Amino acid sequence: MGLKGRTGLVTGASRGIGRQIALDLAREGVDVALAARSVGDLERVAGEVEALGARALVLECDVTDSERVAALPAQVPQDFGPVEILVNNAGVAESHKFIDHPDELWHRALAVNLTGTYSMCKAFVPGMVDLGRGRVINIASTAAKVGGAYIAAYAASKHGVLGLTRSLAVELAKKGVTVNAICPGYVDTPMTERAIENIVEKTGRSEAEARGVLEQTSPQQRLIRAEEVSAFVVLLAGDAASGVTGQAINIDGGAVMF
Ligand code: NDP
Repeated sequence: MGLKGRTGLVTGASRGIGRQIALDLAREGVDVALAARSVGDLERVAGEVEALGARALVLECDVTDSERVAALPAQVPQDFGPVEILVNNAGVAESHKFIDHPDELWHRALAVNLTGTYSMCKAFVPGMVDLGRGRVINIASTAAKVGGAYIAAYAASKHGVLGLTRSLAVELAKKGVTVNAICPGYVDTPMTERAIENIVEKTGRSEAEARGVLEQTSPQQRLIRAEEVSAFVVLLAGDAASGVTGQAINIDGGAVMF
């Protein structure tokens, strides 16, 4: 992909999709800054990145803390950065029926998924513009395109991520910076494990039945693997994708076709 020696930053790199993206970028020779709240987990992922021959930088960061996020670029040493590939992957997914929807759940979804992505872009896009090249890759969701029962907050936050993606893509089009989103269906990660536990708890179904409910949302009747998402991140990060911007690419086994 021609990515060797470039620098990336992945939020939510402590587990799940973010960890996989960090490892697959590292396999391409990208030095990766890893951001999330759980430092112990980030350090484990940093060890895995280094074992692949790339450099890793652990950045303890809650993406909802905009001052902390604004301070991040200064924490990337000059010989490590500047960050050319920003992957906004940190996210939360809590479901609740709307009738007695807790306000804090709404605010948390917006703060992490949408404002967190905005703050990270605000912190790192200026460096990309100065450099004359960059990649912003936002991990959205099929819930960025379609709504669903019990996911008003999540879907609203992810729809917002697409609005941000598309607007930034146009604004940065002449600056050598592309901005795209990836929209996965259910991916086999700790987040989906929690969704399965929630279904078991709320409906009394077995774990296998609950997993089956999520698998049935895809025409392929399976969960997506984190590697299938990270493969597209690597593709979008590379020079071959220079002409791709403002896109929202579904990886969902054919569930959503727009
Ligand atoms: P996980 O719950 O497995 O991991 C979420 C990651 O986000 C963790 O690394 C977590 O780190 C980080 N995170 C959460 N809150 C914050 C915060 N406030 N500040 C910084 N980091 C934070 O989720 P997945 O890997 O499954 O999901 C990753 C992304 O993919 C999310 O944006 C999600 O919405 C999206 N997605 C997931 C799908 C799925 O089915 N799993 C489907 C479609 C989209 P820590 O707790 O250490 O801070």
